[in-house]
Amino acid sequence: MPDISFAQSLCSNKSSSNSDTKEPRTHPCVFCGKLYTRKYGLKIHLRTHTGQKPLECRYCGRAFSDPSNLNKHVRLHAPQTSGIVSSPYRCKFCAKILVRRRDLERHIKSRHQNN
Ligand SMILES: [Zn+2]
Ligand SMILES: [Zn+2]
Ligand SMILES: [Zn+2]
Repeated sequence: MPDISFAQSLCSNKSSSNSDTKEPRTHPCVFCGKLYTRKYGLKIHLRTHTGQKPLECRYCGRAFSDPSNLNKHVRLHAPQTSGIVSSPYRCKFCAKILVRRRDLERHIKSRHQNN
């Protein structure tokens, strides 16, 4: 006899009490409803809706809304070579940083020396 023992005999009167002792301090985004546990996190997220970009790359002036994105970006300007920051070449006209001297010369010729 095929006696399929489905677990139907499970007692279904489990207590539905959420034993959450900590407060659900969530901050919902008013635009998309995404929940944030930290107000700061929500603040950063809100910028994606409002288009605010209060952070600026100190090397090239590019605007960012997310500090972590800015940090990632800034690293591109200063590649880590075993702890020592390689001396980048700065354009004296627009302060743009270029990693190679050749790039700097090229940049100056194309951007600042029209001939
Ligand atoms: Zn949102
Ligand atoms: Zn930059
Ligand atoms: Zn320049």
